[in-house]
Amino acid sequence: MPRVQSIQMRVLLWGWGVLIVGLAVAFWRYSASLDDETARDFERDTLTRLVTVQWLLERNGPFKEPRDRQDFLHSLAASMGMRISLIQGAKVLADSSRPFDDLDKMDDHSTRPEVAGALGGELGQATRHSITLDRDMIYMARKLPDKPGQAETVLRLAAPVSQVRMHMQRMRWALLAAVIPLLLGSGILLYLLSRTITAGIAQFTEAAQAIGEGDYRRRILFYPAAEFQPLAEAINRMAKKIKKNVKVIENQRGELWAMFEGMTEGVMVLDTSGHILHVNPALSAIFPRAHEFIGRAPLEATMSLEIQNLVDTLMAGGSTEPVSRQIELKNRHCAEMTVVPFRDHKFRPRVILVFHDTSEQKRVERVLRDFVANASHQLRTPLTSIRGYAETLLDAPPAEEAKRREFLDIIRANAVHMSKVIAGMFALAKSERGGKRPKDLDASVAQALEHALMNATFAAQEKNITLEVEELPAGLPNAAADPDGLLQIVDNLLDNAIKYSPPGTTVHIAAASDGQSVTLRFRDQGPGIGPEDQKRVFERFFRADNNDVDGAGSAGLGLAICRHIARNYGGEVWVESPVDQDSGSGSEFIVRLPVA
Ligand code: ADP
Repeated sequence: MPRVQSIQMRVLLWGWGVLIVGLAVAFWRYSASLDDETARDFERDTLTRLVTVQWLLERNGPFKEPRDRQDFLHSLAASMGMRISLIQGAKVLADSSRPFDDLDKMDDHSTRPEVAGALGGELGQATRHSITLDRDMIYMARKLPDKPGQAETVLRLAAPVSQVRMHMQRMRWALLAAVIPLLLGSGILLYLLSRTITAGIAQFTEAAQAIGEGDYRRRILFYPAAEFQPLAEAINRMAKKIKKNVKVIENQRGELWAMFEGMTEGVMVLDTSGHILHVNPALSAIFPRAHEFIGRAPLEATMSLEIQNLVDTLMAGGSTEPVSRQIELKNRHCAEMTVVPFRDHKFRPRVILVFHDTSEQKRVERVLRDFVANASHQLRTPLTSIRGYAETLLDAPPAEEAKRREFLDIIRANAVHMSKVIAGMFALAKSERGGKRPKDLDASVAQALEHALMNATFAAQEKNITLEVEELPAGLPNAAADPDGLLQIVDNLLDNAIKYSPPGTTVHIAAASDGQSVTLRFRDQGPGIGPEDQKRVFERFFRADNNDVDGAGSAGLGLAICRHIARNYGGEVWVESPVDQDSGSGSEFIVRLPVA
Protein backbone atom coordinates (compact mmCIF):
# COMPACT_ATOMS: atom_id res chain seq x y z
CA MET A 1 0.00 0.00 0.00
CA PRO A 2 1.37 3.45 -0.82
CA ARG A 3 2.34 5.59 2.17
CA VAL A 4 -0.52 7.92 2.92
CA GLN A 5 -0.10 10.90 5.24
CA SER A 6 -2.34 10.98 8.31
CA ILE A 7 -5.25 13.42 8.46
CA GLN A 8 -3.76 14.90 11.63
CA MET A 9 -0.52 15.73 9.84
CA ARG A 10 -2.34 17.10 6.80
CA VAL A 11 -4.61 19.36 8.82
CA LEU A 12 -1.60 20.62 10.75
CA LEU A 13 0.57 21.19 7.68
CA TRP A 14 -2.16 22.78 5.58
CA GLY A 15 -3.48 24.88 8.44
CA TRP A 16 -0.07 26.13 9.34
CA GLY A 17 0.86 26.61 5.68
CA VAL A 18 -2.18 28.77 5.00
CA LEU A 19 -1.67 30.67 8.26
CA ILE A 20 2.02 31.27 7.64
CA VAL A 21 1.44 32.47 4.06
CA GLY A 22 -1.41 34.71 5.27
CA LEU A 23 0.66 36.09 8.12
CA ALA A 24 3.71 36.56 5.87
CA VAL A 25 1.64 38.55 3.37
CA ALA A 26 0.07 40.56 6.20
CA PHE A 27 3.47 41.09 7.81
CA TRP A 28 5.01 42.18 4.54
CA ARG A 29 2.15 44.59 3.82
CA TYR A 30 2.14 45.85 7.37
CA SER A 31 5.89 46.37 7.59
CA ALA A 32 5.83 48.22 4.20
CA SER A 33 3.14 50.53 5.50
CA LEU A 34 5.05 50.74 8.79
CA ASP A 35 8.13 51.90 6.86
CA ASP A 36 6.05 54.58 5.12
CA GLU A 37 4.43 55.54 8.38
CA THR A 38 7.76 55.76 10.22
CA ALA A 39 9.29 57.79 7.39
CA ARG A 40 6.29 60.13 7.47
CA ASP A 41 6.48 60.37 11.25
CA PHE A 42 10.17 61.16 11.04
CA GLU A 43 9.53 63.75 8.35
CA ARG A 44 6.76 65.39 10.42
CA ASP A 45 8.85 65.24 13.53
CA THR A 46 11.91 66.73 11.81
CA LEU A 47 9.83 69.48 10.21
CA THR A 48 8.44 70.44 13.63
CA ARG A 49 11.95 70.47 15.01
CA LEU A 50 13.17 72.52 12.04
CA VAL A 51 10.47 75.08 12.74
CA THR A 52 11.30 74.97 16.46
CA VAL A 53 15.04 75.42 15.85
CA GLN A 54 14.29 78.25 13.40
CA TRP A 55 12.08 79.94 15.99
CA LEU A 56 14.68 79.46 18.74
CA LEU A 57 17.40 80.82 16.45
CA GLU A 58 15.38 83.90 15.68
CA ARG A 59 14.37 84.29 19.30
CA ASN A 60 17.89 83.94 20.66
CA GLY A 61 19.60 85.79 17.75
CA PRO A 62 21.15 87.81 16.57
CA PHE A 63 24.29 86.49 18.14
CA LYS A 64 27.10 88.77 18.94
CA GLU A 65 29.70 86.37 17.85
CA PRO A 66 29.43 83.55 15.24
CA ARG A 67 30.92 81.33 17.93
CA ASP A 68 27.89 82.01 20.17
CA ARG A 69 25.58 80.79 17.41
CA GLN A 70 27.71 77.70 17.02
CA ASP A 71 27.56 77.04 20.79
CA PHE A 72 23.84 77.65 20.88
CA LEU A 73 23.18 75.18 18.04
CA HIS A 74 25.58 72.71 19.62
CA SER A 75 23.73 72.66 22.91
CA LEU A 76 20.36 72.51 21.08
CA ALA A 77 21.55 69.53 18.95
CA ALA A 78 22.77 67.74 22.07
CA SER A 79 19.35 68.10 23.75
CA MET A 80 17.49 66.96 20.59
CA GLY A 81 19.86 64.09 19.73
CA MET A 82 20.28 65.43 16.17
CA ARG A 83 22.84 67.23 14.04
CA ILE A 84 22.00 70.85 13.24
CA SER A 85 23.69 72.77 10.45
CA LEU A 86 23.20 76.35 9.31
CA ILE A 87 24.32 76.93 5.74
CA GLN A 88 24.50 80.31 4.08
CA GLY A 89 25.39 80.32 0.40
CA ALA A 90 28.37 78.01 0.04
CA LYS A 91 29.47 78.46 3.61
CA VAL A 92 28.55 76.49 6.68
CA LEU A 93 27.78 79.10 9.40
CA ALA A 94 27.35 76.63 12.17
CA ASP A 95 27.36 72.85 12.60
CA SER A 96 26.72 71.04 15.84
CA SER A 97 28.94 68.10 14.90
CA ARG A 98 32.07 70.13 14.12
CA PRO A 99 34.20 72.42 16.26
CA PHE A 100 33.85 76.11 15.44
CA ASP A 101 37.38 76.37 14.10
CA ASP A 102 36.79 73.63 11.51
CA LEU A 103 33.82 75.40 9.92
CA ASP A 104 35.93 77.29 7.45
CA LYS A 105 37.46 74.04 6.24
CA MET A 106 34.15 72.51 5.38
CA ASP A 107 33.13 72.02 1.66
CA ASP A 108 30.50 73.91 -0.18
CA HIS A 109 27.25 72.54 1.25
CA SER A 110 24.93 74.41 -1.09
CA THR A 111 25.19 71.54 -3.61
CA ARG A 112 24.00 68.91 -1.13
CA PRO A 113 20.68 67.53 -2.47
CA GLU A 114 18.68 68.43 0.63
CA VAL A 115 20.16 71.96 0.68
CA ALA A 116 19.61 72.32 -3.07
CA GLY A 117 16.04 71.13 -2.56
CA ALA A 118 15.46 73.65 0.22
CA LEU A 119 16.93 76.45 -1.86
CA GLY A 120 14.53 75.41 -4.66
CA GLY A 121 11.71 76.37 -2.30
CA GLU A 122 10.69 72.90 -1.06
CA LEU A 123 11.49 70.96 1.99
CA GLY A 124 14.85 69.42 1.07
CA GLN A 125 15.30 65.79 2.00
CA ALA A 126 18.06 63.18 1.42
CA THR A 127 19.50 60.02 2.87
CA ARG A 128 23.23 59.43 2.30
CA HIS A 129 26.54 58.78 3.85
CA SER A 130 27.90 61.73 5.76
CA ILE A 131 31.59 62.21 5.12
CA THR A 132 31.78 64.47 8.15
CA LEU A 133 30.32 61.86 10.52
CA ASP A 134 31.13 58.74 8.47
CA ARG A 135 27.67 57.21 8.87
CA ASP A 136 24.36 57.03 6.99
CA MET A 137 22.22 60.01 7.80
CA ILE A 138 18.79 61.32 6.96
CA TYR A 139 18.85 65.03 6.19
CA MET A 140 16.05 67.50 6.12
CA ALA A 141 16.60 71.17 5.21
CA ARG A 142 14.45 74.30 5.13
CA LYS A 143 15.21 77.66 3.74
CA LEU A 144 15.06 80.50 6.28
CA PRO A 145 13.33 83.70 5.27
CA ASP A 146 15.59 85.90 3.11
CA LYS A 147 17.17 88.91 4.78
CA PRO A 148 18.35 91.82 2.78
CA GLY A 149 22.01 91.86 2.00
CA GLN A 150 22.42 88.28 3.12
CA ALA A 151 22.90 85.18 1.02
CA GLU A 152 20.12 82.56 1.20
CA THR A 153 20.30 80.67 4.45
CA VAL A 154 19.26 77.04 4.97
CA LEU A 155 18.67 75.31 8.29
CA ARG A 156 19.38 71.59 8.15
CA LEU A 157 18.66 68.84 10.65
CA ALA A 158 20.12 65.36 10.38
CA ALA A 159 19.63 62.17 12.28
CA PRO A 160 21.44 58.85 11.83
CA VAL A 161 19.55 56.36 9.65
CA SER A 162 20.13 53.66 12.25
CA GLN A 163 17.99 55.57 14.66
CA VAL A 164 15.00 55.31 12.31
CA ARG A 165 15.83 51.77 11.35
CA MET A 166 16.08 50.76 14.97
CA HIS A 167 12.68 52.15 15.54
CA MET A 168 11.29 50.21 12.59
CA GLN A 169 13.09 47.05 13.73
CA ARG A 170 11.54 47.42 17.18
CA MET A 171 8.12 47.67 15.54
CA ARG A 172 8.80 44.52 13.49
CA TRP A 173 9.91 42.57 16.54
CA ALA A 174 6.78 43.62 18.33
CA LEU A 175 4.78 42.36 15.35
CA LEU A 176 6.66 39.06 15.31
CA ALA A 177 6.16 38.67 19.03
CA ALA A 178 2.43 38.85 18.37
CA VAL A 179 2.62 36.37 15.45
CA ILE A 180 4.45 33.57 17.30
CA PRO A 181 1.78 33.00 19.98
CA LEU A 182 -0.76 33.21 17.19
CA LEU A 183 1.03 30.41 15.32
CA LEU A 184 1.37 28.32 18.46
CA GLY A 185 -2.27 28.87 19.44
CA SER A 186 -3.52 28.02 15.98
CA GLY A 187 -1.26 24.92 15.96
CA ILE A 188 -2.80 23.71 19.20
CA LEU A 189 -6.31 24.36 17.91
CA LEU A 190 -5.59 22.58 14.63
CA TYR A 191 -4.08 19.68 16.54
CA LEU A 192 -7.16 19.38 18.76
CA LEU A 193 -9.45 19.56 15.72
CA SER A 194 -7.54 16.90 13.83
CA ARG A 195 -7.43 14.76 16.95
CA THR A 196 -11.20 14.85 17.10
CA ILE A 197 -11.38 13.60 13.53
CA THR A 198 -8.78 10.88 14.00
CA ALA A 199 -10.30 9.82 17.31
CA GLY A 200 -13.65 9.46 15.53
CA ILE A 201 -12.06 7.44 12.74
CA ALA A 202 -10.26 5.22 15.27
CA GLN A 203 -13.54 4.62 17.09
CA PHE A 204 -15.29 3.68 13.82
CA THR A 205 -12.42 1.45 12.75
CA GLU A 206 -12.50 -0.39 16.06
CA ALA A 207 -16.27 -0.90 15.84
CA ALA A 208 -16.05 -2.13 12.23
CA GLN A 209 -13.28 -4.52 13.21
CA ALA A 210 -15.30 -5.91 16.14
CA ILE A 211 -18.32 -6.43 13.86
CA GLY A 212 -16.08 -8.15 11.31
CA GLU A 213 -14.85 -10.50 14.03
CA GLY A 214 -18.40 -11.54 14.93
CA ASP A 215 -19.49 -9.05 17.61
CA TYR A 216 -22.73 -8.24 15.77
CA ARG A 217 -24.26 -6.61 18.82
CA ARG A 218 -21.70 -3.82 18.66
CA ARG A 219 -23.22 -0.37 18.01
CA ILE A 220 -21.74 3.15 17.69
CA LEU A 221 -23.71 5.34 20.08
CA PHE A 222 -21.31 8.25 20.60
CA TYR A 223 -19.37 10.07 17.92
CA PRO A 224 -17.16 13.15 18.14
CA ALA A 225 -18.98 15.38 15.63
CA ALA A 226 -22.33 15.66 13.86
CA GLU A 227 -20.68 14.84 10.52
CA PHE A 228 -20.06 11.32 11.82
CA GLN A 229 -23.73 10.61 12.43
CA PRO A 230 -24.62 9.23 8.94
CA LEU A 231 -21.56 6.97 9.01
CA ALA A 232 -22.39 5.73 12.53
CA GLU A 233 -25.97 5.01 11.49
CA ALA A 234 -24.82 3.17 8.36
CA ILE A 235 -22.42 0.99 10.39
CA ASN A 236 -25.12 0.28 13.00
CA ARG A 237 -27.59 -0.68 10.27
CA MET A 238 -24.98 -2.89 8.64
CA ALA A 239 -24.22 -4.69 11.95
CA LYS A 240 -27.94 -5.29 12.50
CA LYS A 241 -28.39 -6.69 9.02
CA ILE A 242 -25.31 -8.89 9.28
CA LYS A 243 -26.57 -10.22 12.62
CA LYS A 244 -29.92 -11.07 11.05
CA ASN A 245 -28.34 -12.71 8.02
CA VAL A 246 -25.85 -14.66 10.12
CA LYS A 247 -28.75 -15.95 12.23
CA VAL A 248 -30.57 -17.13 9.12
CA ILE A 249 -27.41 -18.72 7.74
CA GLU A 250 -26.64 -20.42 11.06
CA ASN A 251 -30.18 -21.79 11.29
CA GLN A 252 -30.02 -23.04 7.75
CA ARG A 253 -26.61 -24.53 8.35
CA GLY A 254 -27.89 -26.28 11.49
CA GLU A 255 -30.86 -27.66 9.60
CA LEU A 256 -28.71 -28.78 6.69
CA TRP A 257 -26.20 -30.34 9.05
CA ALA A 258 -28.94 -32.22 10.92
CA MET A 259 -30.31 -33.44 7.60
CA PHE A 260 -26.85 -34.40 6.45
CA GLU A 261 -26.07 -36.29 9.66
CA GLY A 262 -29.50 -37.90 9.96
CA MET A 263 -29.98 -38.96 6.35
CA THR A 264 -30.33 -42.65 5.69
CA GLU A 265 -28.53 -42.10 2.40
CA GLY A 266 -24.75 -41.97 2.52
CA VAL A 267 -23.40 -38.62 1.37
CA MET A 268 -19.89 -37.71 0.25
CA VAL A 269 -19.12 -34.04 -0.38
CA LEU A 270 -16.11 -33.25 -2.56
CA ASP A 271 -14.13 -30.01 -2.66
CA THR A 272 -13.13 -28.07 -5.79
CA SER A 273 -10.09 -30.29 -6.34
CA GLY A 274 -12.27 -33.41 -6.24
CA HIS A 275 -11.12 -34.54 -2.79
CA ILE A 276 -13.42 -35.70 0.00
CA LEU A 277 -14.50 -32.80 2.24
CA HIS A 278 -17.29 -34.33 4.38
CA VAL A 279 -18.94 -37.72 4.77
CA ASN A 280 -22.07 -38.41 6.81
CA PRO A 281 -22.49 -41.30 9.27
CA ALA A 282 -24.81 -43.22 6.92
CA LEU A 283 -21.99 -43.54 4.40
CA SER A 284 -20.04 -45.80 6.76
CA ALA A 285 -22.73 -48.47 6.28
CA ILE A 286 -21.65 -48.63 2.63
CA PHE A 287 -17.97 -47.62 2.90
CA PRO A 288 -17.01 -48.40 6.53
CA ARG A 289 -13.71 -46.46 6.50
CA ALA A 290 -14.80 -43.50 4.34
CA HIS A 291 -14.26 -40.99 7.18
CA GLU A 292 -10.56 -41.94 7.24
CA PHE A 293 -10.17 -40.66 3.69
CA ILE A 294 -11.07 -37.00 4.20
CA GLY A 295 -8.88 -34.93 1.88
CA ARG A 296 -8.24 -37.90 -0.43
CA ALA A 297 -9.73 -39.00 -3.74
CA PRO A 298 -13.06 -40.89 -3.79
CA LEU A 299 -11.26 -43.82 -5.41
CA GLU A 300 -9.31 -44.45 -2.20
CA ALA A 301 -12.44 -44.51 -0.04
CA THR A 302 -14.64 -46.48 -2.42
CA MET A 303 -12.06 -48.55 -4.33
CA SER A 304 -14.29 -48.07 -7.33
CA LEU A 305 -12.79 -46.85 -10.57
CA GLU A 306 -16.29 -46.42 -11.96
CA ILE A 307 -17.12 -43.84 -9.26
CA GLN A 308 -13.82 -42.01 -9.73
CA ASN A 309 -14.27 -41.82 -13.52
CA LEU A 310 -17.78 -40.46 -13.16
CA VAL A 311 -16.61 -37.86 -10.64
CA ASP A 312 -13.73 -36.83 -12.93
CA THR A 313 -16.10 -36.43 -15.89
CA LEU A 314 -18.52 -34.25 -13.91
CA MET A 315 -15.72 -32.20 -12.32
CA ALA A 316 -14.45 -31.49 -15.85
CA GLY A 317 -17.88 -29.99 -16.58
CA GLY A 318 -19.21 -33.13 -18.28
CA SER A 319 -22.79 -32.59 -17.19
CA THR A 320 -24.83 -30.11 -15.23
CA GLU A 321 -27.56 -32.65 -14.46
CA PRO A 322 -27.31 -35.29 -11.71
CA VAL A 323 -26.18 -38.69 -12.97
CA SER A 324 -27.43 -41.92 -11.34
CA ARG A 325 -25.81 -45.35 -11.52
CA GLN A 326 -26.39 -48.75 -9.93
CA ILE A 327 -23.12 -49.86 -8.44
CA GLU A 328 -22.08 -53.27 -7.18
CA LEU A 329 -19.81 -53.14 -4.19
CA LYS A 330 -17.78 -55.65 -2.29
CA ASN A 331 -19.39 -57.90 0.34
CA ARG A 332 -22.60 -58.24 -1.69
CA HIS A 333 -23.51 -54.59 -1.17
CA CYS A 334 -25.22 -52.75 -3.96
CA ALA A 335 -26.23 -49.12 -4.04
CA GLU A 336 -27.81 -46.54 -6.23
CA MET A 337 -25.35 -43.70 -6.58
CA THR A 338 -26.36 -40.20 -7.68
CA VAL A 339 -23.61 -37.73 -8.49
CA VAL A 340 -24.94 -34.18 -8.25
CA PRO A 341 -22.78 -31.52 -9.92
CA PHE A 342 -23.00 -27.89 -8.84
CA ARG A 343 -20.97 -24.68 -8.97
CA ASP A 344 -19.51 -22.94 -5.96
CA HIS A 345 -19.55 -19.14 -5.38
CA LYS A 346 -16.55 -18.74 -7.70
CA PHE A 347 -18.31 -20.81 -10.35
CA ARG A 348 -15.89 -23.70 -9.89
CA PRO A 349 -17.35 -27.20 -10.48
CA ARG A 350 -18.01 -29.36 -7.44
CA VAL A 351 -19.93 -32.58 -6.86
CA ILE A 352 -21.84 -34.34 -4.10
CA LEU A 353 -22.24 -38.11 -4.16
CA VAL A 354 -25.39 -39.64 -2.67
CA PHE A 355 -25.46 -43.38 -2.05
CA HIS A 356 -28.71 -45.16 -1.45
CA ASP A 357 -27.97 -48.63 -0.08
CA THR A 358 -30.24 -50.94 -2.04
CA SER A 359 -28.76 -54.15 -0.60
CA GLU A 360 -31.58 -54.62 1.89
CA GLN A 361 -34.20 -53.77 -0.72
CA LYS A 362 -32.59 -56.25 -3.12
CA ARG A 363 -32.38 -58.84 -0.38
CA VAL A 364 -36.03 -58.33 0.56
CA GLU A 365 -37.03 -58.61 -3.10
CA ARG A 366 -35.03 -61.80 -3.41
CA VAL A 367 -36.43 -63.21 -0.17
CA LEU A 368 -39.94 -62.33 -1.27
CA ARG A 369 -39.39 -64.01 -4.64
CA ASP A 370 -37.98 -67.10 -2.94
CA PHE A 371 -40.75 -67.00 -0.38
CA VAL A 372 -43.49 -66.92 -3.01
CA ALA A 373 -41.75 -69.61 -5.05
CA ASN A 374 -41.10 -71.80 -2.01
CA ALA A 375 -44.50 -71.20 -0.46
CA SER A 376 -46.29 -72.10 -3.68
CA HIS A 377 -44.03 -75.10 -4.08
CA GLN A 378 -44.54 -76.15 -0.45
CA LEU A 379 -48.29 -75.89 -0.80
CA ARG A 380 -48.59 -77.21 -4.36
CA THR A 381 -46.93 -80.59 -3.65
CA PRO A 382 -49.21 -81.62 -0.77
CA LEU A 383 -52.20 -80.08 -2.56
CA THR A 384 -51.52 -82.12 -5.71
CA SER A 385 -51.25 -85.19 -3.55
CA ILE A 386 -54.50 -84.41 -1.71
CA ARG A 387 -56.31 -83.74 -4.99
CA GLY A 388 -54.94 -86.93 -6.60
CA TYR A 389 -55.94 -89.21 -3.69
CA ALA A 390 -59.31 -87.49 -3.26
CA GLU A 391 -60.10 -87.91 -6.99
CA THR A 392 -59.02 -91.54 -6.84
CA LEU A 393 -61.27 -92.12 -3.84
CA LEU A 394 -64.14 -90.43 -5.66
CA ASP A 395 -63.67 -91.81 -9.17
CA ALA A 396 -62.15 -95.22 -8.60
CA PRO A 397 -62.04 -96.01 -4.90
CA PRO A 398 -59.94 -99.11 -4.05
CA ALA A 399 -61.94 -102.06 -3.05
CA GLU A 400 -60.05 -102.79 0.15
CA GLU A 401 -60.90 -100.81 3.20
CA ALA A 402 -57.23 -100.71 4.29
CA LYS A 403 -56.18 -99.14 1.01
CA ARG A 404 -58.89 -96.50 1.26
CA ARG A 405 -57.80 -95.70 4.84
CA GLU A 406 -54.20 -95.45 3.68
CA PHE A 407 -55.24 -92.89 1.04
CA LEU A 408 -57.19 -90.92 3.62
CA ASP A 409 -54.15 -91.02 5.96
CA ILE A 410 -51.99 -89.55 3.21
CA ILE A 411 -54.60 -86.83 2.59
CA ARG A 412 -54.64 -86.03 6.29
CA ALA A 413 -50.84 -86.01 6.58
CA ASN A 414 -50.61 -83.58 3.64
CA ALA A 415 -53.33 -81.38 5.13
CA VAL A 416 -51.40 -81.37 8.45
CA HIS A 417 -48.26 -80.41 6.57
CA MET A 418 -50.10 -77.62 4.76
CA SER A 419 -51.51 -76.25 7.98
CA LYS A 420 -47.98 -76.39 9.44
CA VAL A 421 -46.66 -74.38 6.48
CA ILE A 422 -49.48 -71.86 6.79
CA ALA A 423 -49.07 -71.63 10.58
CA GLY A 424 -45.35 -71.13 10.09
CA MET A 425 -45.94 -68.37 7.56
CA PHE A 426 -48.32 -66.65 9.98
CA ALA A 427 -45.82 -66.98 12.82
CA LEU A 428 -43.14 -65.51 10.61
CA ALA A 429 -45.31 -62.61 9.53
CA LYS A 430 -46.20 -62.00 13.17
CA SER A 431 -42.56 -62.14 14.29
CA GLU A 432 -41.61 -59.64 11.60
CA ARG A 433 -44.21 -57.19 12.81
CA GLY A 434 -42.57 -56.99 16.26
CA GLY A 435 -44.49 -54.39 18.24
CA LYS A 436 -44.02 -54.91 21.97
CA ARG A 437 -42.27 -52.26 23.98
CA PRO A 438 -39.09 -53.34 25.81
CA LYS A 439 -40.54 -52.72 29.30
CA ASP A 440 -43.30 -55.30 28.64
CA LEU A 441 -40.73 -57.97 27.74
CA ASP A 442 -40.10 -60.28 30.67
CA ALA A 443 -40.06 -64.07 30.31
CA SER A 444 -38.85 -66.74 32.71
CA VAL A 445 -36.27 -68.93 31.01
CA ALA A 446 -36.88 -71.75 33.49
CA GLN A 447 -40.62 -71.77 32.76
CA ALA A 448 -40.09 -71.71 28.99
CA LEU A 449 -37.66 -74.67 29.27
CA GLU A 450 -40.01 -76.61 31.51
CA HIS A 451 -42.89 -76.03 29.11
CA ALA A 452 -40.87 -76.97 26.03
CA LEU A 453 -39.53 -80.13 27.68
CA MET A 454 -43.09 -81.23 28.39
CA ASN A 455 -44.04 -80.61 24.78
CA ALA A 456 -41.08 -82.61 23.54
CA THR A 457 -41.38 -85.56 25.87
CA PHE A 458 -43.51 -87.64 23.53
CA ALA A 459 -41.31 -87.09 20.45
CA ALA A 460 -38.16 -87.81 22.47
CA GLN A 461 -39.58 -91.00 23.89
CA GLU A 462 -40.60 -92.18 20.44
CA LYS A 463 -36.97 -91.99 19.31
CA ASN A 464 -35.55 -93.04 22.64
CA ILE A 465 -33.71 -89.73 22.95
CA THR A 466 -32.52 -88.54 26.34
CA LEU A 467 -33.17 -84.87 27.13
CA GLU A 468 -30.40 -83.90 29.50
CA VAL A 469 -30.95 -80.51 31.17
CA GLU A 470 -27.96 -79.03 32.99
CA GLU A 471 -28.87 -77.59 36.35
CA LEU A 472 -29.88 -73.96 35.85
CA PRO A 473 -27.59 -71.45 37.58
CA ALA A 474 -29.06 -69.93 40.74
CA GLY A 475 -30.66 -66.55 40.18
CA LEU A 476 -30.81 -66.93 36.40
CA PRO A 477 -32.38 -63.64 35.26
CA ASN A 478 -35.46 -63.43 33.09
CA ALA A 479 -35.04 -62.71 29.41
CA ALA A 480 -36.29 -59.52 27.78
CA ALA A 481 -38.78 -61.47 25.67
CA ASP A 482 -42.44 -62.25 25.33
CA PRO A 483 -43.15 -65.63 27.11
CA ASP A 484 -44.93 -66.97 23.98
CA GLY A 485 -42.08 -65.87 21.73
CA LEU A 486 -39.45 -67.38 24.00
CA LEU A 487 -41.42 -70.64 24.16
CA GLN A 488 -41.70 -70.68 20.37
CA ILE A 489 -37.90 -70.38 20.05
CA VAL A 490 -37.18 -73.04 22.66
CA ASP A 491 -39.87 -75.36 21.20
CA ASN A 492 -38.43 -75.04 17.71
CA LEU A 493 -34.81 -75.60 18.70
CA LEU A 494 -35.69 -78.59 20.93
CA ASP A 495 -37.97 -80.01 18.27
CA ASN A 496 -35.20 -79.76 15.64
CA ALA A 497 -32.60 -81.28 17.98
CA ILE A 498 -34.86 -84.31 18.53
CA LYS A 499 -35.99 -84.46 14.90
CA TYR A 500 -32.48 -84.47 13.43
CA SER A 501 -30.87 -86.71 16.09
CA PRO A 502 -30.47 -90.46 15.48
CA PRO A 503 -32.46 -92.64 17.90
CA GLY A 504 -30.84 -93.46 21.22
CA THR A 505 -28.73 -90.29 21.40
CA THR A 506 -28.75 -87.46 23.92
CA VAL A 507 -29.85 -83.85 23.54
CA HIS A 508 -28.04 -81.57 25.95
CA ILE A 509 -29.78 -78.39 27.19
CA ALA A 510 -28.08 -75.63 29.22
CA ALA A 511 -28.72 -72.01 30.24
CA ALA A 512 -26.40 -69.28 31.59
CA SER A 513 -26.17 -65.52 32.03
CA ASP A 514 -23.36 -62.95 32.11
CA GLY A 515 -25.60 -60.31 33.68
CA GLN A 516 -26.25 -58.59 30.34
CA SER A 517 -27.80 -61.48 28.46
CA VAL A 518 -29.22 -64.96 28.92
CA THR A 519 -27.90 -67.78 26.75
CA LEU A 520 -29.65 -71.12 26.02
CA ARG A 521 -27.84 -73.99 24.31
CA PHE A 522 -29.32 -77.08 22.56
CA ARG A 523 -26.64 -79.59 21.67
CA ASP A 524 -27.43 -82.77 19.75
CA GLN A 525 -25.55 -85.74 18.35
CA GLY A 526 -27.15 -85.46 14.95
CA PRO A 527 -25.42 -85.26 11.54
CA GLY A 528 -24.30 -81.62 12.06
CA ILE A 529 -24.59 -78.81 9.54
CA GLY A 530 -21.92 -78.02 6.96
CA PRO A 531 -20.26 -74.56 7.05
CA GLU A 532 -22.06 -73.49 3.84
CA ASP A 533 -25.48 -74.36 5.22
CA GLN A 534 -24.94 -72.85 8.66
CA LYS A 535 -26.10 -69.42 7.49
CA ARG A 536 -28.71 -70.65 5.11
CA VAL A 537 -30.61 -72.81 7.62
CA PHE A 538 -32.02 -69.54 9.04
CA GLU A 539 -33.50 -68.57 5.67
CA ARG A 540 -37.18 -69.25 5.02
CA PHE A 541 -37.98 -72.67 3.57
CA PHE A 542 -34.35 -73.70 3.54
CA ARG A 543 -33.91 -77.35 4.27
CA ALA A 544 -30.61 -79.17 3.94
CA ASP A 545 -31.20 -82.16 1.67
CA ASN A 546 -29.47 -84.70 3.78
CA ASN A 547 -31.49 -83.61 6.80
CA ASP A 548 -34.81 -84.41 5.22
CA VAL A 549 -35.65 -86.87 7.92
CA ASP A 550 -39.38 -86.67 8.18
CA GLY A 551 -40.54 -86.08 4.65
CA ALA A 552 -43.74 -84.06 4.66
CA GLY A 553 -43.33 -83.07 8.31
CA SER A 554 -41.06 -80.04 8.02
CA ALA A 555 -41.58 -76.71 6.27
CA GLY A 556 -38.12 -75.11 6.57
CA LEU A 557 -39.58 -72.17 8.46
CA GLY A 558 -38.75 -73.00 12.12
CA LEU A 559 -35.25 -71.46 12.31
CA ALA A 560 -36.27 -68.41 10.26
CA ILE A 561 -39.03 -67.80 12.80
CA CYS A 562 -36.59 -68.31 15.74
CA ARG A 563 -34.13 -65.81 14.34
CA HIS A 564 -36.81 -63.22 13.63
CA ILE A 565 -38.31 -63.51 17.10
CA ALA A 566 -34.89 -63.33 18.78
CA ARG A 567 -33.85 -60.30 16.74
CA ASN A 568 -37.09 -58.57 17.59
CA TYR A 569 -36.01 -58.75 21.24
CA GLY A 570 -32.51 -57.51 20.40
CA GLY A 571 -31.09 -61.04 20.61
CA GLU A 572 -29.60 -63.56 18.17
CA VAL A 573 -29.71 -67.26 17.25
CA TRP A 574 -26.85 -69.09 15.61
CA VAL A 575 -25.47 -72.58 15.14
CA GLU A 576 -22.07 -74.09 15.81
CA SER A 577 -21.26 -77.35 14.09
CA PRO A 578 -19.74 -79.89 14.27
CA VAL A 579 -19.78 -80.37 17.99
CA ASP A 580 -17.66 -83.49 17.88
CA GLN A 581 -14.61 -82.56 15.82
CA ASP A 582 -13.48 -86.20 15.45
CA SER A 583 -16.63 -87.55 13.89
CA GLY A 584 -17.65 -84.19 12.40
CA SER A 585 -21.16 -84.59 13.80
CA GLY A 586 -23.51 -82.80 16.14
CA SER A 587 -24.94 -79.26 16.11
CA GLU A 588 -25.33 -76.78 18.89
CA PHE A 589 -28.01 -74.09 18.48
CA ILE A 590 -27.48 -71.09 20.71
CA VAL A 591 -29.98 -68.37 21.48
CA ARG A 592 -28.93 -65.23 23.29
CA LEU A 593 -31.43 -62.69 24.60
CA PRO A 594 -30.95 -59.52 26.60
CA VAL A 595 -31.72 -59.65 30.32
CA ALA A 596 -35.13 -58.24 31.23
P1 ADP B 1 -37.51 -77.64 9.14
O1 ADP B 1 -36.97 -78.24 10.35
O2 ADP B 1 -38.99 -77.51 9.17
O3 ADP B 1 -36.96 -78.15 7.91
P2 ADP B 1 -36.06 -75.44 10.08
O4 ADP B 1 -36.05 -74.03 9.67
O5 ADP B 1 -36.36 -75.70 11.50
O6 ADP B 1 -37.05 -76.15 9.15
O7 ADP B 1 -34.69 -76.04 9.75
C1 ADP B 1 -34.10 -75.75 8.50
C2 ADP B 1 -33.13 -76.81 8.14
O8 ADP B 1 -32.03 -76.77 9.03
C3 ADP B 1 -33.70 -78.16 8.33
O9 ADP B 1 -34.38 -78.57 7.17
C4 ADP B 1 -32.47 -78.97 8.56
O10 ADP B 1 -31.87 -79.32 7.31
C5 ADP B 1 -31.51 -78.06 9.26
N1 ADP B 1 -31.50 -78.30 10.73
C6 ADP B 1 -32.22 -77.67 11.65
N2 ADP B 1 -31.93 -78.11 12.88
C7 ADP B 1 -30.98 -79.08 12.74
C8 ADP B 1 -30.25 -79.88 13.65
N3 ADP B 1 -30.43 -79.83 14.96
N4 ADP B 1 -29.35 -80.77 13.13
C9 ADP B 1 -29.15 -80.81 11.79
N5 ADP B 1 -29.79 -80.04 10.88
C10 ADP B 1 -30.72 -79.20 11.36
